[in-house]
Amino acid sequence: MLPETYTALLVDQREGATVAEIRTLTPADLPPGDVIVRVAYSSLNYKDGLAVTGTGKIIRSFPLVPGIDLAGTVIESGSPAYKPGDAVILTGWGIGERYWGGYTQLTRVKSEWLVPLPNGLSQLHSMAIGTAGLTAMLCVMALEEAGIVLNNREVLVTGAAGGVGSVAVALLAKAGFSVVAATGRPETHDYLRMLGAARVVDRAEIAAPGRALEGETWAAAIDTVGGDTLAGIIRALAYNGAVAACGNAGGVQLNTTVFPFILRGTKLLGVESVLCPFNRRQVAWARLAQDLTPELLDSLVQVVSLAHVPEVSRQIVAGQIRGRVVVDVNT
Ligand code: NDP
Repeated sequence: MLPETYTALLVDQREGATVAEIRTLTPADLPPGDVIVRVAYSSLNYKDGLAVTGTGKIIRSFPLVPGIDLAGTVIESGSPAYKPGDAVILTGWGIGERYWGGYTQLTRVKSEWLVPLPNGLSQLHSMAIGTAGLTAMLCVMALEEAGIVLNNREVLVTGAAGGVGSVAVALLAKAGFSVVAATGRPETHDYLRMLGAARVVDRAEIAAPGRALEGETWAAAIDTVGGDTLAGIIRALAYNGAVAACGNAGGVQLNTTVFPFILRGTKLLGVESVLCPFNRRQVAWARLAQDLTPELLDSLVQVVSLAHVPEVSRQIVAGQIRGRVVVDVNT
């Protein structure tokens, strides 16, 4: 049974300004699709912060329900792949950007965008992972496929106290690597060690200007920051080292030379989560459910209500969110 009304956060533009407000909608407002989902949780990613505050050009048409992630339960399904009662996850595929997203109690989506919730993972914990955690796992998989040659060297994670970074630190530590976490926030050092970092460094060290090739420091890296940080990593990767690059929280320009690539065999691996094909997503989600314990996920997440989304959106754009934020759309 569909509810007569439901609550959603809608973002619109008025007189050139981006406005986010909670609205009461009816099933007639549901977007197109073949599966109706009662949403339990969404999450807050950097991209959501940009969308809700209007800081970045994320939303393609207004008004729109933001939220690039959601977890919930199927209520109606026109797809043989899903039936009422099935617990599902949806991340990416343009929801919260091009299509209505997860900051709502009810939605209708395309069945091919859904992933069944892995056994043993709660809906809340699936959103503690969300797009950020999925991206961290896709980075780990990209490094594994490239082949990490350790030679007693460490693996670096940048933007470590953020969402992608926190999960990346935990996953790499769980896999047995000696993880170095780069952060600009001294107050997060204990938190990063708790996630499994062997060492914490100041992010300014990684981004500092240097020669075309620096000493061979890192066996591999996951970079969520881009700009001078990514350039610094590329200069300091060891022979045949690889960096999985997924973010631009610190800049979009990449100022490098060909020397690391042609003299050290450095590998620059781009990682993209929005259009990641179903089979790879399912592999990644299964590993996330296996590798991240409920206790670990509880330690990196805060849960907020729909009404708090504008506030935490401003905080994530300002680089002030530690770990992950889950949005409970029913409070
Ligand atoms: P968060 O805001 O949670 O984390 C970003 C972190 O980057 C911050 O916590 C901070 O880490 C660091 N940071 C922020 N600003 C700067 C700066 N000016 N210079 C250096 N470091 C900075 O965001 P997410 O983890 O959700 O996303 C991280 C990045 O990954 C974003 O750019 C996002 O767009 C991208 N992304 C890409 C995806 C893809 O599919 N390719 C999917 C998901 C995210 P600290 O405080 O520790 O220094």
